[in-house]
Order: sequence, then C-alpha cells, then structure tokens
Amino acid sequence: MGTRLRKEEAMKCVVCKMGETRPGFTTVTLEREGAALVVRKVPAQICDNCGEAYVSAEVTRSLLQSAREALRAGVEVDIREFVATTV
Ligand SMILES: [Zn+2]
Repeated sequence: MGTRLRKEEAMKCVVCKMGETRPGFTTVTLEREGAALVVRKVPAQICDNCGEAYVSAEVTRSLLQSAREALRAGVEVDIREFVATTV
C-alpha cells in the first residue's frame, strides 16, 4: 500500500531546521499604500523552536481581502481579530 494521506500534521521548520510546527495563532501586519492593518488571532502553524509562523494559503487570501476592504474604507491604521471571509 504505497498511498499515504497527507494530513495537517507537524512539519519541520524551514527557518531554524530544528523545531516542528504546531497549530496556534499569530499576529499578522499588512502594510499597503501607507495603511497598516494588524490582524490578531490568525490561525497558523507555529514553530516550537524559533516561533516562525506559517499561514496557509486560504488564510493569506482572507487576510489580503480584509486589507483591500480596509483600504477601500479609508482605514489608515487598524487592529482587528481574524475572521475567515471564505465559506
Ligand atoms: Zn523554527
């Protein structure tokens, strides 16, 4: 049986090459055209050694969408908690 399902499991950290990632939360700062959006409680895989955070593609897309909306609304600086915009 050579098939292996890839689950969301711990991966080796590519930054320190020592630690392994664990599910957790991080804070992401998005800066664009002079505006800054700080998003807290972003779900991510966190390295247990160096603390590097790995954010998934879906979450990144959601973050960028929030940033676009904030810019459109004229936000210059904002701190908010992460809310998934995808279904
Ligand atoms: Zn690391």
